[in-house]
Amino acid sequence: MTDIVIIGAGPAGLTAALYATRAGAKVKIIESGAPGGKLNSTADIENYPGIKKKMGPELAYEMYEHALNFGAELEMTEVTGIRDFGHHKIVVTTNGEIETKNIIIATGTKERLMNIPGEKEYTGKGVSYCAVCDGPFFKGKETAIIGGGNSAIEEAVYLAGFVSKVHIIVRRDVFRADKYIIDKAKSMNNIVFHTLKKPLEVIGDGHKVTGLKLTDSKTNEESLLEVSGIFPFIGLDPMTGFASNLDITDEKGYIEVDEHMQTKIKGIFAVGDVTNKQLRQIVTAANDGAIAGQYIASNL
Ligand code: NDP
Repeated sequence: MTDIVIIGAGPAGLTAALYATRAGAKVKIIESGAPGGKLNSTADIENYPGIKKKMGPELAYEMYEHALNFGAELEMTEVTGIRDFGHHKIVVTTNGEIETKNIIIATGTKERLMNIPGEKEYTGKGVSYCAVCDGPFFKGKETAIIGGGNSAIEEAVYLAGFVSKVHIIVRRDVFRADKYIIDKAKSMNNIVFHTLKKPLEVIGDGHKVTGLKLTDSKTNEESLLEVSGIFPFIGLDPMTGFASNLDITDEKGYIEVDEHMQTKIKGIFAVGDVTNKQLRQIVTAANDGAIAGQYIASNL
């Protein structure tokens, strides 16, 4: 039987694997996408101590290599359920079942959709949720970014480096992003802010995006932006559907944990963005992973 199954190979899961294996535990990491989680879709990391500036995918690869250094195994599959039998647990995956003494849930969050007409139809044809992955397709073209949080403004600054213009659409006149990055965006002459505007409809020619219809948050007046690319960054939802039978989440679906990152079920832990915490950062994800990995390994 495995000591720990870690579900998710983002910074939280990879750090948990590093600490647990280094302390002697037998660890299996389950991941359905590229190891590194959200790092893979982040342009520049500027606030991880010791790293002044690095591309997200580069840090993702380094964290992944480092995590496997002490013997953790990675299996590429998708988790569909968890069954708890007290002293042992079963992780159900599309490849079969894995028996383990402990589980660490590190599945993070997924991007929220705008849920407006045209969004689904033009996803991959101009609508994208990853500026790092798809931004270069829009070199020299006009693009729109939706949202006023850190994700939206950081990715706008990244896109502005090679597209002709970035329109940032914010539904209120208040931003959630940090002042530092807002000031940086405001200092760039090809970023235009449109506050008090909401996305209404993605417009296209049947093959690709040609524009974004907006509505004024106060007057409801409609307007059209001619853009080739649309990048919604309007927040995130926790990926906890597979654990809904365990009753360990709050009303928004985030997992509640104690100071050891353990849920109310003994042997089931959660770390990183999927937990109901205030500050979702790489450094806090790594912190959670270290606490859970070390705690489990030293109590086997
Ligand atoms: P946030 O929840 O911080 O921001 C979401 C933005 O989208 C808000 O401006 C919100 O407006 C807007 N919005 C929400 N729904 C809609 C909608 N239907 N239509 C139009 N606009 C909408 O999400 P982020 O993804 O930016 O960040 C998530 C977390 O990750 C945060 O804690 C953030 O600080 C963190 N993060 C940190 C980074 C860093 O420090 N380097 C980088 C990236 C993320 P409103 O305010 O009106 O709700």
